[in-house]
Amino acid sequence: MTMMLEQERLQVAKTALAMLQTGLVVNTSGNVSIRVDDRIAITPSGLPYESLEARDIPVVDMQGNPLSGDLLPSSETPLHVSVYAANPSVKAIVHTHSVYATAVSTLVKELPAIHYQVVDLGGPVPVAPYQTFGSAELAKSVTDTMRGRTATLMQNHGSLTVGENVDQALARTITLEWLCRVYLIAVQSGTPSLIDDEELDRVLQQQIRLGEERQRRLNARGRRA
Ligand SMILES: [Zn+2]
Repeated sequence: MTMMLEQERLQVAKTALAMLQTGLVVNTSGNVSIRVDDRIAITPSGLPYESLEARDIPVVDMQGNPLSGDLLPSSETPLHVSVYAANPSVKAIVHTHSVYATAVSTLVKELPAIHYQVVDLGGPVPVAPYQTFGSAELAKSVTDTMRGRTATLMQNHGSLTVGENVDQALARTITLEWLCRVYLIAVQSGTPSLIDDEELDRVLQQQIRLGEERQRRLNARGRRA
């Protein structure tokens, strides 16, 4: 018998373990999901990430109703469903309570452009106003704040990043955590200088140019093979 979304469930389990091993989450905090059309594979609620197998990952529909799996889906399933519903191009979501992102979420309304890599997250990262975990209000707060962005901080809670695939969403979480760490160290030492919007546009153009060049080389390598 084939398992519904077996590959995606395996990827969710592997990503959850990677989040634990890289220190982005402790115990069972944080969650990860992958969307395929109108189905979502998401980490279960309160189960240790070390032992997760594909069959332990629940699959829900776009209303959060269970489709496959015996375990309770993450308490933040309404949050994931809401972000997917508002952003059709989003295929994966990573949410953590990582140390530096959570610390910054308590201090500012926006993580400013302290480094050009903020471009990877769509620019300065907004902070979604606090709401109770697992609530429809939190889902709305984050979804409203996310618009057009690939990352948001969640006030007194943590971080959320999205991607076209789960590796991209996880890479953005790692970038965001690193940026928050740099920011906190800088503000403890003085008033950091920031990068203005005009320069961020130049950085974006530079990255696009580099991305195209990289792809051309990869294609050339593929043709020779
Ligand atoms: Zn959370």
